[in-house]
Amino acid sequence: MHISLKRQVALVTGASSGLGASAARALAQAGAAVVINFHSKAEPAEALADEIRAAGGQAVAIGADVSKEEDVERLFAQTLEAFGALDILVANSGLQKDAALVDMSLDDWNTVINVNLTGQFLCARAALRQFIAQGMRPDVSRAMGKIIHMSSVHQLIPWAGHANYAASKGGVDLLMRSIAQEVGVQKIRVNSIAPGAIRTPINEDARAGDAEKKLLELIPYGRVGEPEDVANAVVWLASDASDYVHGSTLFIDGGMSLYPEFRGNG
Ligand code: NAD
Repeated sequence: MHISLKRQVALVTGASSGLGASAARALAQAGAAVVINFHSKAEPAEALADEIRAAGGQAVAIGADVSKEEDVERLFAQTLEAFGALDILVANSGLQKDAALVDMSLDDWNTVINVNLTGQFLCARAALRQFIAQGMRPDVSRAMGKIIHMSSVHQLIPWAGHANYAASKGGVDLLMRSIAQEVGVQKIRVNSIAPGAIRTPINEDARAGDAEKKLLELIPYGRVGEPEDVANAVVWLASDASDYVHGSTLFIDGGMSLYPEFRGNG
């Protein structure tokens, strides 16, 4: 199977680090022109755009807060200015503000929901509006557009001490499936990726020192994931190779969602 995303335009949110950066790099390697959205750190986003351009690809870095409607509208307008179309949205931005529920501030609740869930809504809505406005581009893809939501195993696995994060990802699951039900008839494909523990800045603490050993007990496949494990799936889900995959969540978790604590128990 050869995957080419040539002449397609991809927008990846939260792409200055971690899974977003890796996905942007992989999409560019597959031939897509890539918009690297960043929130506060312009430098790594610009450096990634430089790297992609130096390798012969097309990329621009654009700052925007995905939880703010006016920022999202500007991000999509600037994407069009840069590349003239949009074919793929990877709604990847996300964060954690962890606390036991009794100690959780309303600010920390709102921040996580606003970025992880409202941000996904705002970006998906803007992408859908653009896909519908530009119509089919049969020379580049069988679908009129593709949306990939970055969810988490915690759309399924409850997570004490992280209720805001788990609630946001549970919301992403039904957001994704409701949008997929709504727009499939327009040939727009919508799916999610649910990573387990992947080596990125978001979970540095959960991997520091002895913590990684404890984390590995939760992963039947016996290793922490690498950003490329997820990036490869992003490229596949964005391509016509997955043209009949719609409304699905692809768990990329080394088996974390298999309830490994139940091995040999009960
Ligand atoms: P990360 O911290 O490196 O990436 C998160 C990105 O989101 C950062 O680039 C950050 O700048 C961006 N972001 C935060 N707030 C933003 C805002 N308001 N507007 C725009 N961008 C914003 O961590 P990551 O692991 O690469 O996380 C990427 C996604 O993957 C997140 O949605 C996260 O929930 C999800 N995820 C990660 C893992 C993992 O193990 N790494 C597991 C499950 C889900």
